Amino acid sequence: MSSPVTGKATSKEWGYADHNGNGDSQKLCPDHWHELFPNAKGDNQSPIELHTKDVRHDPSLLPWSASYDPGSAKTILNNGKTCRVVFDDTYDRSMLRGGPLPGPYRLRQFHLHWGSSDDHGSEHIVDGVKYAAELHLVHWNPKYNTYGEALKQPDGIAVVGVFLKIGREKGDFQIFLDALDKIKTKGKEAPFSHFDPSCLFPACRDYWTYRGSFTTPPCEECIVWLLLKEPITVSSDQIAKLRSLFSSAENEPPVPMERKPITFPNKNTISSKKKHGRIKIRKKAIGHHFLVILISQIFSFPIFILKIINLEAMMSNSIYGSRYV
Ligand SMILES: [Zn+2]
Repeated sequence: MSSPVTGKATSKEWGYADHNGNGDSQKLCPDHWHELFPNAKGDNQSPIELHTKDVRHDPSLLPWSASYDPGSAKTILNNGKTCRVVFDDTYDRSMLRGGPLPGPYRLRQFHLHWGSSDDHGSEHIVDGVKYAAELHLVHWNPKYNTYGEALKQPDGIAVVGVFLKIGREKGDFQIFLDALDKIKTKGKEAPFSHFDPSCLFPACRDYWTYRGSFTTPPCEECIVWLLLKEPITVSSDQIAKLRSLFSSAENEPPVPMERKPITFPNKNTISSKKKHGRIKIRKKAIGHHFLVILISQIFSFPIFILKIINLEAMMSNSIYGSRYV
């Protein structure tokens, strides 16, 4: 999940260098993002690793639906961190509804995260499984009038996450990939219209959901995540096409747009949901361990919290996420 201010330089630009100096040592490494972006030390940071054994059934959760206007797709761009397709969100054209959402949300953009090889690349991890890539469709709640205002609200943004695994080629994905030739380098932008991204959804609409954040600075904690349980299948060649992008500008030495996986201890307040199921997990770091409080909440949609059941358990520090971009 890329933040809207991705790539903006401050006194020192953020990046992914580690303590050993691997990666871009000229940029602030994730352990220090909070020095410039205090949200990065929040309790609702993303991504997370989901442990499906912890997910509980909640029959009150609704199914979700997307109604996208292909004509609202506008452009595709390379921002040096990812490739992004931007939609017209000046009125209710492409909408996401239902699920855990308190109302309709407008589609603003989608983008992908991928790795340097097929064995990793997704931001979220499911029971230890790292998928080859992860698609993020970013929507905002128009009751806050502007996208900027929505970023300040805990329910301002809704992101649908779709995992990509390696297998047979996906034709609908190729339409998007073919456009990447026009945006090889940072700052490039090209028209991209008549595209309905719901063609990239899996057949099964089951999902997990939790309250989280953007995964890049300033890491605002404003996101209702809907992570689709069923991955879509694309070919290895199709993922390789993503790796043909550069994070450098046209007039700069070429730098591949690669993501370096960096694990971090998860301090999230996590709510992961299956279809019709919801569980809330609170974790606080205690030494090298986490106290995990499982709070199962039953919601009567759209009225929030009717009933809370508390369950506490200790867990080892096995819950980690990883940041790519
Ligand atoms: Zn993203």
